[in-house]
Amino acid sequence: MCACSNREFSLRKDNQHANVLGDTDKLNDDIRRAVTIGIDECFLSFPKPKPGDWVSLHQEKGQTVQEFERTKRTVPHTTYKTIYIQPIGPFDHPRAPSLETICEFSSNYFPGCELEILPQIEFSDFSKHLKTGKRINKYSKQPQYLAGFIIGHLKKMRRRERKNDRKELFCVGVTMADIYPEASWNFVYGLASIDDGIGIYSFARLDPVFPDIETARPCTDEERTLILRRAVGVFVHEVIHLFGLEHCIYYSCLMNGSESEEEMDRQPLYLCPVCLRKMYSAMGKEKQHFNVIQMYTKMLDGCKRLNLKTELEWYENRLNILNRTADN
Ligand SMILES: [Zn+2]
Ligand SMILES: [Zn+2]
Repeated sequence: MCACSNREFSLRKDNQHANVLGDTDKLNDDIRRAVTIGIDECFLSFPKPKPGDWVSLHQEKGQTVQEFERTKRTVPHTTYKTIYIQPIGPFDHPRAPSLETICEFSSNYFPGCELEILPQIEFSDFSKHLKTGKRINKYSKQPQYLAGFIIGHLKKMRRRERKNDRKELFCVGVTMADIYPEASWNFVYGLASIDDGIGIYSFARLDPVFPDIETARPCTDEERTLILRRAVGVFVHEVIHLFGLEHCIYYSCLMNGSESEEEMDRQPLYLCPVCLRKMYSAMGKEKQHFNVIQMYTKMLDGCKRLNLKTELEWYENRLNILNRTADN
């Protein structure tokens, strides 16, 4: 999938988690407790990579909270707080994950922002040049679209159709079609143009029966849960990149890079203390809405509805620890 050479993964010398997290004294009680209390009990260190895992193939130097806060990035402000979700192509196949469900669960990660699903558009709306942005994948024999081409179209749509919109923070294209970033690559799960605040993410390969989705029987309950878990994971991970967060190499975390669905399934749906602290900063003036206890309580409800048992237990345990220490 990627042409990078194998290399020995080593953590940075400054991987003292306290240095990475920076000064927490001035934070309000809620976020300070969430990133300092019961950490070893609830968060696992970054796992030793297996051959073929993301960090064995891609160089990751990590990003401390301080480095994150210094980067130029898009911050929600005044009326600009809406993350648009733009469906491209149909989502009505019985095996496709529900966009409303993904949207509802994912909104818990972005307090202070709104998520809004735009009316569906079709690949055929993409102008007469579509042929240059489409191919048949030689392994899957399925059509695939060039991710950069889609991002270009989403940019045009923003200029043309939402030029007076004073709400848009990011626009995230989602599709059940497979996508690729450049001719030499087999596929990609998603691609973001951080400067433009636009991303495109494909859920095609999250289905374990890919590429035979069209002819597959209806989902079992286990498959539905697995596909939804992966879809929420990919969606939230990619939107968090748009906020300027890079991959996490400090803990087992939703912001760890992943090279395959198998690696994705090993990663949690929660943010480690470092990435949680960055998301708090990422909200700018909207951080007044960032209340970790409230977020976790809503996520706990979401995990119940999606039948995510491991995540449910994690949020229950984490809330118990945070609420217990809050009472003392
Ligand atoms: Zn990523
Ligand atoms: Zn992290």
